[in-house]
Amino acid sequence: MDSLSQTDARDPHEAIREEVRKLCLGFPGAYWRALDREHEYPEAFVRALAEQGWLAALIPEDYGGSGLPLSAAAAILEEIQRAGCNGGACHAQMYIMGALLRHGSAAQKSLYLPQIASGALRLQAFGVTEPTSGTDTTALKTTARRDGDEYVINGQKIWTSRAEYSDLMLLLARTTPREQIVKRTDGLSVFLLDMRRLKGNGLTIRPIRTMMNHATTEVFFDDMRIPADALIGEEGKGFRYILSGMNAERILIAAECIGDAKWFIEKTTDYAKERVVFGRPIGQNQGIQFPVAKAYTHMRAAELMVYHAAALFEAGRDCGAEANMSKMLAADASWEAAEACVQTHGGFGFAEEYDVERKFRETRLYQVAPISTNMILSYLAEHVLGLPRSY
Ligand SMILES: Cc1cc2nc3c(=O)[nH]c(=O)nc-3n(C[C@H](O)[C@H](O)[C@H](O)COP(=O)(O)OP(=O)(O)OC[C@H]3O[C@@H](n4cnc5c(N)ncnc54)[C@H](O)[C@@H]3O)c2cc1C
Repeated sequence: MDSLSQTDARDPHEAIREEVRKLCLGFPGAYWRALDREHEYPEAFVRALAEQGWLAALIPEDYGGSGLPLSAAAAILEEIQRAGCNGGACHAQMYIMGALLRHGSAAQKSLYLPQIASGALRLQAFGVTEPTSGTDTTALKTTARRDGDEYVINGQKIWTSRAEYSDLMLLLARTTPREQIVKRTDGLSVFLLDMRRLKGNGLTIRPIRTMMNHATTEVFFDDMRIPADALIGEEGKGFRYILSGMNAERILIAAECIGDAKWFIEKTTDYAKERVVFGRPIGQNQGIQFPVAKAYTHMRAAELMVYHAAALFEAGRDCGAEANMSKMLAADASWEAAEACVQTHGGFGFAEEYDVERKFRETRLYQVAPISTNMILSYLAEHVLGLPRSY
């Protein structure tokens, strides 16, 4: 039974959690600190996860994956974060793959999915956000123009994480000019790019250094030619395909935040018990106890929402509100726990060797990406509470 959770001793994914924990033991704080300093990609960690099949958890068995439910993938990512590792290096494959699985042709699925499942190919890059349109995805400007049996792509993406370490990219681009569409969400299409042959052939990737080690990039398309069969599903319906994967993305990121929150809470209580000032452990002071007890309470509530959202998702029910709420509650809980952890550590909260400052920087991202808190609140206001759309 998990001392920081447990709701239910019969966690169906306990065996998975145990195995992931074991794998993570091979990647301690020192491993992540060294990479963080140099902003290097955790190649060995990602390879180990792929070799043990964890990144193929959601790929159906027919395609070489393990065909596990979303809650199992959530358990995997939660344990990675909880162990102090960083799933941000590879989590995207789990949710990007859903677009290929749900909307790809039989030929695309049988070509790519087994290779993704075996780890021979990485599908880690997701090109949606652009510098000018930002959160307003349907205003994106990258174009894909059909030319015989090819498409010609022009434009730019930003924050395309892991593009340098991925073989494939899922790209959202405009195939019908905005002036010619009836609905705002029409005219966008999804493509699966094989970046191995495109780098230097119209595709340029430039890393962006950020406050944490996230391997994010900006990507430029300059008359880049791709075969027409790179199109996923029907032309013009891409925005819907991307949206259909967003609930899974939100739930999985929320699970990561729960893992982060548990890591911070454990680190906080361990230190508070050990550190003696004024002749007693600092954890004896209510000023130290209350913030972490509050963070724990919020983490547990968020965890229930993650379980609930995943259960609805697995039952094939609408879970837009729950997926969004779980992402917001879990991101808030991890940030609150991070804050309590730094405060409890005093000066040592700022020292690299404690890992607290690194995890603090890493978990801050989830207030903004993949969807910012404001947009979640706007979604709830409009779609759940029936208030007028504010933008
Ligand atoms: C490290 C990192 C990795 C990322 N990885 C990827 C990736 O792999 N692929 C990808 O496509 N994208 C990725 N993103 C992009 C991420 O999803 C966006 O940064 C995020 O959605 C916010 O968009 P923006 O940065 O353009 O902010 P903007 O859209 O410019 O918004 C800025 C601020 O204004 C607020 N705001 C905007 N409009 C409104 C409104 N109507 N009401 C209230 N508030 C509003 C936002 O909430 C936000 O706080 C990543 C970002 C980062 C930082």
